[in-house]
Amino acid sequence: AKAAGRNTLRFFDPAMQLMVAQRAELESDLRLGLKRGELMLYYQPVVDANRAVVGAEALLRWLHPGRGLVSPLEFVPLAEQTGLIIPVGVWVLQTACAQLAQWASDPLTAHLTVAVNVSARQFRQDEFVSQVQGALQQTGADPKLLKLELTESLLLTDTQDAIMKMAALRSLGVRFALDDFGTGYSSLSYLKMLPLQQLKIDQSFVRDVLTDHNDAAIARTVLALGRSLGFDVVAEGVETEGQRQFLLDQGCTLFQGYLFGRPVPVAEFRFN
Ligand code: C2E
Ligand code: CA
Ligand code: CA
Ligand code: CA
Repeated sequence: AKAAGRNTLRFFDPAMQLMVAQRAELESDLRLGLKRGELMLYYQPVVDANRAVVGAEALLRWLHPGRGLVSPLEFVPLAEQTGLIIPVGVWVLQTACAQLAQWASDPLTAHLTVAVNVSARQFRQDEFVSQVQGALQQTGADPKLLKLELTESLLLTDTQDAIMKMAALRSLGVRFALDDFGTGYSSLSYLKMLPLQQLKIDQSFVRDVLTDHNDAAIARTVLALGRSLGFDVVAEGVETEGQRQFLLDQGCTLFQGYLFGRPVPVAEFRFN
């Protein structure tokens, strides 16, 4: 037993075993939850410089019968590890596209875009393009109103494959945003290679934009970069008028954050 070393012993650590058991339980709960319809999409408004709502980001929620509302920060990473993110991701795409199609049928909401978060494992499958296409076709949603949010690490792992998938979806009219921009390692040359239309300034830079010179400089730089490369820039996590005003002064035209609206079930979504 001694020769086997620490790795073996760790297996019998009671705290560790509990964690493994809890994770296994969460996973089987999520598998069931998906079947039982416990997943929901909340929608958070994206507004323009005049505070007009131009779209929404779809944010996944799990209404667990015992635990209540579970945050995606808790179950998305687990779903990603176990592969459950694939059926979950298909559900998210279909539900978001169904919402787009429903909004399209009312002149008051027909212009709204919907942004969907895509996980790395979901994007890397060969079937990803056909899953998006399938969701659009089955619901009749307008591809031009669908925005897919990708992260830098996802795009960096196999950039050639990413470009091919994005190009296939671009030809349908689907748009792409780079989420959490500034937290990864993007080089400018690689940004230019990707068929992106939008950058989202990560909320970690917006939070202290009025007090932290470095965060202010990053926000300013991302806005200037977006302008020169022809991308829209969305500032996320905007909570105060001061933050909005600063970003507006730096040329930001799209905003998302509690100042304008929290993520809510679609029935509570205010589009004016
Ligand atoms: P994200 O894509 O960066 O989403 C923005 C997060 O910031 C959301 O957290 C949103 O509720 C929160 N937020 C928005 N405005 C504010 C604000 O003014 N202040 C603060 N403090 N927070 C704000 P949420 O909904 O908990 O989602 C967390 C993360 O989970 C998302 O980060 C995304 O990475 C992931 N996620 C959510 N839905 C999905 C999904 O359908 N699929 C995948 N793969 N991931 C998802
Ligand atoms: Ca996002
Ligand atoms: Ca983000
Ligand atoms: Ca994030």
